[in-house]
Amino acid sequence: MSGSEYRHLAISAITSGAAMEVEKPEPLSKIWATDVFNLAKMEECLSKNAYKAMKKTAQTGAPLDPATADVVAAAMKDWALSKGVKFFSHIFYPMTNATAEKHDGFIVTNADGNAITEFTGSLLIKGEPDGSSFPNGSLRMTNAARGYTAWDPTSPAYIMNTANGATLMIPSVFMSWTGEALDKKIPLLRSNAAMNKAAKKVLQLMGETEIASLNSSCGAEQEYFLVDEKFANLRPDLLLTGRTLFGAPPAKGQQFDDHYFGAIPERVQVFMQDFENQLYKLGIPAKTHHNEVAPGQFEIAPYFESANVAADHQQLLMTVMKLTAKRHGFMALLHEKPFAGVNGSGKHVNWSVGNSTQGNLLDPGNTPEDNLKFLLFCGAVIRGVHLFGPLLRAVIASASNDHRLGANEAPPAILSVYLGDQLEKVFMDIKAGNLTATECGGNMDLGLAEILPFKRDPGDRNRTSPFAFTGNRFEFRAVGSSQSVSGPLVAMNTMLADSLNWVAGKLELALGEGLSLTEAVLAVLKELMDQHSNVIFGGDGYSEAWHKMAVEERGLKNLPTSADALPAFLDPAIIELFSSTGVLTPVELESRYEVYSEQYILSIEVEAKLVIDMATTLVYPAAMSYLEQLTNTLATSAELGISLDASLAKKVAAQADGLLATVDKLALSIGQHDFPSVEAHMKYCASEIRALMDTARSYADTLETLVPNALWPLPKYAEMMFIK
Ligand code: ADP
Ligand code: MG
Repeated sequence: MSGSEYRHLAISAITSGAAMEVEKPEPLSKIWATDVFNLAKMEECLSKNAYKAMKKTAQTGAPLDPATADVVAAAMKDWALSKGVKFFSHIFYPMTNATAEKHDGFIVTNADGNAITEFTGSLLIKGEPDGSSFPNGSLRMTNAARGYTAWDPTSPAYIMNTANGATLMIPSVFMSWTGEALDKKIPLLRSNAAMNKAAKKVLQLMGETEIASLNSSCGAEQEYFLVDEKFANLRPDLLLTGRTLFGAPPAKGQQFDDHYFGAIPERVQVFMQDFENQLYKLGIPAKTHHNEVAPGQFEIAPYFESANVAADHQQLLMTVMKLTAKRHGFMALLHEKPFAGVNGSGKHVNWSVGNSTQGNLLDPGNTPEDNLKFLLFCGAVIRGVHLFGPLLRAVIASASNDHRLGANEAPPAILSVYLGDQLEKVFMDIKAGNLTATECGGNMDLGLAEILPFKRDPGDRNRTSPFAFTGNRFEFRAVGSSQSVSGPLVAMNTMLADSLNWVAGKLELALGEGLSLTEAVLAVLKELMDQHSNVIFGGDGYSEAWHKMAVEERGLKNLPTSADALPAFLDPAIIELFSSTGVLTPVELESRYEVYSEQYILSIEVEAKLVIDMATTLVYPAAMSYLEQLTNTLATSAELGISLDASLAKKVAAQADGLLATVDKLALSIGQHDFPSVEAHMKYCASEIRALMDTARSYADTLETLVPNALWPLPKYAEMMFIK
């Protein structure tokens, strides 16, 4: 059977497919967190003391003594065994965007040959996968390839079910034998601790006496595409790279704006409900889902949680999404730009910091005192984005996100902060010295109090900003859909820690000079605004004018590709940021640069190889079949004395020739390995290789519009997006 016949078979199979059998809906109370060993379950099965110790550890990260760990391990094992579990695994989060796990059985045999089960505190706490197969950026010599995983008691263990088995998953950190972070969780925990320490200093200076541990929160909105698996299986590009390397735009795209929030196709609705039920069982609070802008594109957003748990849940959500989609005959595409010319997918990371005593510090609050705290924390974020914008750009850099950033439907690659009109005015007034404090019986004068308790305005949206204040949190909108949220959270927590340390230093000085608290806060904020207000921008982030102004007048960096962005990890200011806050040592940071740049080069090379392969084995042969038909017809008609125009045949031949010549050049260019530095190699990928891939694509896409539908082997954009 020919490629095009397979494609037509797929279309008829999908359109005549029977509806999937689904389970009857269960009430939320019956399924919520049934597969999670959370505090509620521990309360049921642990002694009072053990439970109290565990609760403290889970909520504050305080170390757990070995005796309690033994008790928790035993209870965890009993709970898991009662649910049919036979294996356990430390799941960890290496420097790729994926997760990793090694499964061990609970089983041991005794002298009588009987199988018993064993799970001690030390087995719970420490695992030892072979570390050598995970990226480490030269952190481990091969003769010392050992890596350790260690239980993270602040993120609950859970059960992953398959059709005939179940595994207890234990969220863990992953480090080298010398204790260096090899994963995405360690820096996240450290960045939270650094932020907590700095925030406490500021709150103390503001006169707070009772200050609970501060934690960062994250709510991630995940965009994705669904494509029928029968189509995806006919597209090697989707299978291997997650995006289409070829494909002409459909006649109908998203230009009608009829998809966003539109009615969800029934088959997708069934998938979503199943998906959400799986998430609920795993204790992931899925809250909203809707259609996205492009046809076949959707979004799911769980309710926000503490950043560490949210990051683990985000990884799990992506895994469960892919598995559930497969069960429904779909392939879930998490790539940032699966279809050229069609809206891409991002992951908005909503982020705030707070605690149980002062609440959310990015929430304006109702009293002038609350507002002062809010303004300081908000100011600290502004300073962070201004000083460390290139870091925020670097942590979202990937070969796939490059296709989305800077395009006209995604946040620009220039990092600026959007505050909304009202808040921007408050900060600009502070900068101009128009907002001053005169104390009046211990309270601020009315003028200030009137301006400060501004209303929240979450409806005030600027979709063109990469980093926007949205009422009680910041929304980092440039994060890629396939990415782990850890990197962005680490960058935000760490820059905030640095800024809060700066604020604390300045505030202490100002208070020492005898200023009132309000005067001192406003003085610190004025100084902060004098240095950093350039990063605030409320206009159209897509406009040419902004790109020019940002770079030429505001001194902001425009870093369009990952090749431009990743070297930020080597910037002395960023090395200092991470080492002064204790989040990453210079060696750890450099290893990250190595890993991420390697991944960038590798993904472009894999795609380039696939372009060559698909052009040669799928597109060119289809063009030749058509050319054969055309030339045969031309020859026969000439014999019969019918004169036919040969221009179409010539056009097909010219495009096919162009395609072949381009992939030859592409093959030569990926053979190049002689570069003075990794940076130079990345730049070469970004410019030369990507450009040749684009040229090859334009030949192939033109051929798609010339070759008859009946001969085309690859499922087309319209089919993949509209047939569900
Ligand atoms: P929108 O699409 O309008 O941006 P959504 O409701 O889709 O909004 O997503 C908003 C996300 O922000 C949700 O995950 C929500 O739980 C989260 N969120 C709300 N408040 C906070 C907060 N204070 N800190 C962190 N995330 C938050
Ligand atoms: Mg949003």
